[in-house]
Amino acid sequence: MSVLYDKPSQRAAELRAFLNKASHAYYVLDNPIIEDGVYDQLYRELIDIENNDPSLVTADSPSQRIGGIPAKGFKSKQHRVPLLSLDNAFNFEELKAWYLRLEKTIKIKQVDKTETPLFTMVGELKIDGNALALTYSEGILISATTRGDGRKGEEITPNVRTISSIPLRLHIKNPPPWLEVRGETFIPNDKFIDINNKRKKCGEELFANPRNACAGTLRQLDPKVVFDRKLDFFAYTMHLPEKWEAQENRYKNPTQQWQALNWLKSAGFKVNTNTELLKDLNAVKNFFDRWETQRQTLPYATDGVVIKVNEFNHQASAGLTQKAPRWAIALKYPAEEAPTKLIRLTYQVGRTGTITPVAEFEPITLAGTSVSRATLHNANRLTALDLHSGDTIVVRKAGEIIPEVLRVLKTLRPTTATPLKLPNYCPSCNTKLVREVDQAITRCVNNSCPAKLSGALKHWVSKGAMDIDGLGNKMIEQLVEKGLVKSISNLYTLNINLLTSLDRVGLKSAEKLITSIEESKKQPWHKQLYGLGINQIGQANAKAIANTFKSISELSTATYQSPELINSIYGIGDEITESLKEWFSNQSNQKLIKELQFQGLALEVNKQECSRSAISLTAQNSSFVGKSFVLTGTLKSLSRNEAQILIEEAGGKISSSISVKTSYLITGDKPGSKLSKAKELGIKIIKENEFKNLLSS
Ligand code: NAD
Repeated sequence: MSVLYDKPSQRAAELRAFLNKASHAYYVLDNPIIEDGVYDQLYRELIDIENNDPSLVTADSPSQRIGGIPAKGFKSKQHRVPLLSLDNAFNFEELKAWYLRLEKTIKIKQVDKTETPLFTMVGELKIDGNALALTYSEGILISATTRGDGRKGEEITPNVRTISSIPLRLHIKNPPPWLEVRGETFIPNDKFIDINNKRKKCGEELFANPRNACAGTLRQLDPKVVFDRKLDFFAYTMHLPEKWEAQENRYKNPTQQWQALNWLKSAGFKVNTNTELLKDLNAVKNFFDRWETQRQTLPYATDGVVIKVNEFNHQASAGLTQKAPRWAIALKYPAEEAPTKLIRLTYQVGRTGTITPVAEFEPITLAGTSVSRATLHNANRLTALDLHSGDTIVVRKAGEIIPEVLRVLKTLRPTTATPLKLPNYCPSCNTKLVREVDQAITRCVNNSCPAKLSGALKHWVSKGAMDIDGLGNKMIEQLVEKGLVKSISNLYTLNINLLTSLDRVGLKSAEKLITSIEESKKQPWHKQLYGLGINQIGQANAKAIANTFKSISELSTATYQSPELINSIYGIGDEITESLKEWFSNQSNQKLIKELQFQGLALEVNKQECSRSAISLTAQNSSFVGKSFVLTGTLKSLSRNEAQILIEEAGGKISSSISVKTSYLITGDKPGSKLSKAKELGIKIIKENEFKNLLSS
C-alpha cells in the first residue's frame, strides 16, 4: 500500500473510477486513454487493496468482471462455454508461486500419489489481439463471437468470414455435430502500419496499437472494410461434444492441450508454431527468456507467454475462478511504462548551471530494472506536466533509454495536492536563478557555485573524457565541499597528503589516483575537448571538431575569424558554433585553458594521434562516410566503445537514438525498443556479422 494514501477505501474508490473509465475507452471506444502496462499496475494495486480488505470489493469493481460490455449494433450471443480471461504474472517469482499452488492442488486430487511427473505444461505466445469464439455445426462455420463479458459476446460472423486463415468448413470428413474453437485474431504489424498511414492521410484518428485496431475492425458494420484490413487468426482451444466418436485416429477427442493444438492444425486451423511442451519450471523460464528477445522479430505483436497445464484431467482438478482458469497463466514481459506515486521533486544543478527538476517516486520495475527517479528535463516540461505534490505519474524506461515522466494521471490527484514549480534560488549556492528569455532553461550563473564545479569535475573524469579511475562522485563532492579543488586544473595539483585527509581514502588508493590523474594527461585531444564540457559538444562532435582543428588555440581562433570552417564540419551547425564562441569568450574559461596547459595538458593532437589519424584517413569506408549508426542490444565480439571507434574511424557517426536520419541500426542480443522504432521508420537493420562485412567491404 502506498505511503501517500493512508485511506485504502479512498484510494480504492479513485482506482475503481479511473479503471472503469479506462476500460470503457479501451473495450467500447477502442481508443485507450492509458497504456496497457499502466492499466495492469493500477489494476494490481486495486486487487491488493481488495485482498487486504475484502469489504472494499464493490459490485462495480473491475475485478468483478471480464473484459468489456458487448457493443451496440451487433446481436449479443451467449457462449456455449464461458470465454474466460487469463490471470497474469508480472515476473517469474509470481509464476513460480502459481506453479507451486497448482502442484499442491493437483497432488491432492491425483489418484495415484506415486505417479510422476505431476503435470506437464504447454508454453504458447500471448498474441496481443482479440479473443474469438467460433462455432462449427456439422463442420461449417455458423457463428463467430467476441469475448464480450465472458458469458455473452457480440456476434460478428460476417466480419470473421473475411479472415482467410479461419476455415469456413473443417478439413474433417465426418465432422462433429458441433465444435467450439477459441483463438486470437490480430492485425500483423505491417498491416497495422498501413492502416494507420491511410488514416493519417485521410485525417482520421490513429489507432493506439494493433490490438485496438483489431478490436475496432471487428466491430465494423461493413465486412468489406474488415476484408481490406487483412486480419489473421491463431487457434488455441477447442471444445467437442464429449460423446462424439471420431472415425479417424487423429481426430479422437484430445486429452491434452498439446494434442488439441495438433487436432486444430489437422482440422484446417492456423496454430502458432512457436509453441513448446514444457516439463518443469526451468523449461518455462527458458521459454520465457528466449521469447523476450525473439518476439521482437515476429511479424505480429505479443505481450507475454501463456503457460497452460497440458493434461485435461489436471486442468479439471485445478478448476476455474470467476474470471480465469486456474490451470493457465499469462506471464507478461516487463512493462516499459508504469504508474507510481511522486514522493518529491528535487533540483539538480548541472555543470553549466542548468537547473533540472528530478522526480523522485516510489520504486517501480521497468524494462527489468528498478527505477526511483526520472528527470523532467526543464521548466517547460514541468509546466506541461502540471505536476502536483502526491500525484500519480506514468514513468517510462525503454531498454537503455533513461527514465522519463510521461504523464500525470490527474484523475488520481489527491485533493490536498499543490502545484510544483522551479525554485527561484539555486539549491546549491542560493544565488538568484536566471531564466533565459524564450528558452526553457533556468540557470545558476554563479561561476563558483559548488554544484556546477562538481558537475564539471564529474564530467572531466568520466570514461568518455579523461577516464580518471578512482575519483568517484562522493570523493569529488568532498573535494569541492572542503575547498580543496576550485577548478578542474586543481585536480593536477592534488597530492597524497591532501587525498589521504579525505574520508575513507587510504594510502594505496591515493597513490593509484595520483597515477591515474597523471596518466590522463595523455588522453587524446578530442577527449580533452569533450571533457571541457562545452555546451552541445558531445563525444561525436568533439571528435569531428578535433579532426579538423588540431589544437585549442586553432579552434579558439576559428570561432572568431572563420566560424564558417566550423560550420562546414559534418554534423556541426550554427548552434554549436555559437556555443563554442560563447565558451571561448568567457574569461574564466580562458583562464582554465592556461591553467591546464600549465599543468602539462597540451590540449592539442599528440604524436600518437597523428599517426593513427593518418591510418584512419586511408581506412575511410564509403559505406560509412556521412552515415549515422545506432546500436541496440549486446554485441558478441565487440564492446559498444569498440564498435563506436570502428564506425567513427570508417567515417560514420554514432547516435544514441533512432530518427529518420538514422542510416543503420546494428542489433545485438536482447535488442531494446529501438528495434521496433527502426522497423516503424523503415531503417535498415543489420546484425553484428553484417556490420563487420560492411566494415571490411
Ligand atoms: P489479457 O489480455 O491480459 O489476457 C487474456 C487474453 O489473452 C485472452 O482472452 C486471449 O484473448 C488472449 N490470448 C492471447 N494468446 C493466448 C493464448 N496463447 N492462449 C490463451 N489466451 C491467449 O486479458 P484481457 O482480459 O483480454 O484484457 C485485460 C488486459 O487488457 C489488461 O491486462 C490490460 O493490459 C488491457 N486493458 C487495457 C486498458 C487500457 O486502458 N489500456 C483497459 C482495460 C484493459
